[in-house]
Amino acid sequence: QAKARGRNGFSFYAPSMTGEGVERLRLETFLRRSIEKDEIFLNYQPQVEIDTGRLIGVEALVRWNHPELGLIPPIRFIPLAEDTGFINQLGKWVLHEACRQMVRWQQAGLHVPKIAVNLSAKQFERGSIVNMVADILSDTGLEPQRLQLEVTESVIMNTGDAMVFINDLHSIGVALAIDDFGTGYSSLAYLKQLPVQTLKIDRSFIKDISTDVNDEAIAIAIIQLGKSMNLSVIAEGVETDEQAAFLLRHGCNLAQGYLYSRPLSSDDMLARWQK
Ligand code: C2E
Ligand code: MG
Ligand code: MG
Ligand code: MG
Repeated sequence: QAKARGRNGFSFYAPSMTGEGVERLRLETFLRRSIEKDEIFLNYQPQVEIDTGRLIGVEALVRWNHPELGLIPPIRFIPLAEDTGFINQLGKWVLHEACRQMVRWQQAGLHVPKIAVNLSAKQFERGSIVNMVADILSDTGLEPQRLQLEVTESVIMNTGDAMVFINDLHSIGVALAIDDFGTGYSSLAYLKQLPVQTLKIDRSFIKDISTDVNDEAIAIAIIQLGKSMNLSVIAEGVETDEQAAFLLRHGCNLAQGYLYSRPLSSDDMLARWQK
């Protein structure tokens, strides 16, 4: 194939440059300029109380809309951003925008109690995440208690200084949630020592909750664990009334999922929730 393309049997591409490698490089190049080109934005997924439907917060979810490639899902560009180091710039932008948006909504008369923002392990490797968060909070004027950072179990377990950073974040008043709880390997001993407020039950356990006895057992165990450790527990990926009823029956009153709302633009948040 390379022979057919290159003149005189030469190929421009190194043999290791598979189609996939080329594609990746292209994406990488585009990604690096995505912020300055205004292609990155946030959506916000409501988190609600199951029994009342009351809004308790939103999760900020990053989106990339490229003029040629269209909307690219985070599962495709977050890993790339992590590999290239761009995640530091991206993560900072996301955090800043999320905090700014909270203040804008407030000014428009919509009170969103808190905003959850995802953090990558790579963001912990780069020195002081705590200063960055503190700077953004003071720059935007958002109260620290209204910001919740989401980290996965693997971030906590695999990042050497994660404990230190998490304690520092706690000391400036920022809340912490463990995302996708139950899918990583976590040590319950760590959980005991960390100033975490929230466990998020991973979507994979919620999906077949009323038909798969193992998923059911895991979900119940997480709810119980949260209860006995005085943590709030929120279920992610709730899509059906049946799942919601199951959660409520077992003592979990917080949820996020398509049953309540898909991730929304900031304007749609206003349209839907502003009184
Ligand atoms: P996550 O943090 O676990 O976010 C929840 C994901 O589940 C979101 O996907 C959301 O749209 C989706 N979701 C919510 N409710 C439902 C539902 O009822 N059914 C189904 N099938 N899906 C539901 P999204 O936005 O594609 O994000 C995927 C992942 O990308 C996130 O998982 C998170 O790990 C990562 N991510 C997103 N935004 C950021 C960010 O700003 N920074 C970092 N580091 N990671 C991010
Ligand atoms: Mg999350
Ligand atoms: Mg999650
Ligand atoms: Mg997830």
